[in-house]
Amino acid sequence: MQIINPATEEILTEIKEDTKETLASKFGSLQKAQPVWQSIPLDERVEVLKKFSGLLEKNIEQLSAVLTSEVGKPLQQSRNEVNGARTRIKWLTENAGKYLTDETMISEKGLEEKISYEPLGVICNISAWNYPYLVGVNVFVPALLAGNTVMYKPSEYSTLTGLEIEKLLKEAGVPQNVFHLAVGGKETGEILLQLPFDGYFFTGSYKTGKMIYEKVASKMVPCQCEMGGKDPLYVTDDLADIKNVAAATADGAFYNNGQSCCAVERIYVHEKVYDRYIDEFVKEVKSWKTGSPTEAGVYIGPLSRKEQLLVLEKQLQDAVQKGGSILTGGKRMDRKGFYFEPTVVVDASHEMSLMRDESFGPVIGIMKVKNDEEAVQFMQDTEYGLTASVYSNSKERAEHILHQLNTGTGYWNCCDRVSAAVPWSGRKHSGFGSTLSHVGLRAFTKPKAYHLRSV
Ligand code: NAD
Repeated sequence: MQIINPATEEILTEIKEDTKETLASKFGSLQKAQPVWQSIPLDERVEVLKKFSGLLEKNIEQLSAVLTSEVGKPLQQSRNEVNGARTRIKWLTENAGKYLTDETMISEKGLEEKISYEPLGVICNISAWNYPYLVGVNVFVPALLAGNTVMYKPSEYSTLTGLEIEKLLKEAGVPQNVFHLAVGGKETGEILLQLPFDGYFFTGSYKTGKMIYEKVASKMVPCQCEMGGKDPLYVTDDLADIKNVAAATADGAFYNNGQSCCAVERIYVHEKVYDRYIDEFVKEVKSWKTGSPTEAGVYIGPLSRKEQLLVLEKQLQDAVQKGGSILTGGKRMDRKGFYFEPTVVVDASHEMSLMRDESFGPVIGIMKVKNDEEAVQFMQDTEYGLTASVYSNSKERAEHILHQLNTGTGYWNCCDRVSAAVPWSGRKHSGFGSTLSHVGLRAFTKPKAYHLRSV
């Protein structure tokens, strides 16, 4: 398997993929090691994961350089990602004891009723490339804390980072056969689906997630899918500081080149503030430095995957045909690498693919709306349900709108953010089940009820 640098199109290295035989052997060793790992006291597992976080901190410059070289995100955004992963590990390790320890629910008259949170067993984690540290940590950290062993399949576009993660987990004290990497692409993933794992945790596109859910259904084990989004954002008419709102919401749409599951993918603006907002938004987008992701100050680097360039071109062609106007950007950059200009389209409509299908790139469609009712109608008009955001001076107004939307997350005066303290989950084609928070810690366990009566 070749690893390509998306900024230069050069081959960074070639890596041997796992085979059916090597994966079966890794699976067997994970199965054997699981009861031993489970028997280690939780506190000790917590210490190992804390050490892993310390190693991320110690090696941050090297890890960020590797991440940038294979996915093309600006170096500072790679550093932010590693630091973000550490923040999540902090919450998960600090709260593992509270949520994974046996709970006595009733204890009276010689009867004790308690819940024990047993690990699922051997976990299969098939993961995405856009935030390999963050989406990886969401799964393998709570899984390991809960006493599971893990087969982690990084995306074929972030394999080098997967290898770094494996190396540092082992250095931190995760025993050899408690965590294994499955190296490869789609075919490797398909082999994993045939093995008898005790739980499947997938992060990636709806198309793949749907297929995985169907394929593993007959195994009767938990399967959790975190998938894409077409996240809406609404700018109401009661805002005083439009300039700041435009800058913050543009960042929500374009950070990591728009390649975030919770990136703002469509914007609705109240007609009273529309012109001012568009003016400030375009000014902000034009102010960004584009170029090589290793150059200081660059905000827009290359896309991670070449194929996405064509997806964006098709969406924009369709948008223009259906009456959209491109105010800035609109095409590939004239240089080597997978670069696309940050693009703003106004006069968008829901007839356009741009407003319906995940773009996963540096393009945004914006629509004018008359009132909150119309905004809600458009925001709801989607197959996805990951996040939604409302910018307004009034918390009550924002909450009233967010309450009507079928999404896993609602944002007021913020967007494109994740916190380890609350569940991260999708609805509809964005998925089901949660990672992070107490819900995400317990997702890797099966509760066992004990009814204990002393004679
Ligand atoms: P993808 O679906 O192409 O690939 C995801 C993983 O599945 C990769 O490891 C890939 O090798 C594997 N895979 C592909 N085909 C497979 C098959 N037939 N059998 C088994 N495994 C297979 O997605 P991607 O391009 O890596 O990631 C981008 C998508 O992920 C976007 O839609 C994004 O929104 C979504 N995402 C969601 C979240 C979330 O938390 N909801 C987070 C990050 C990314």
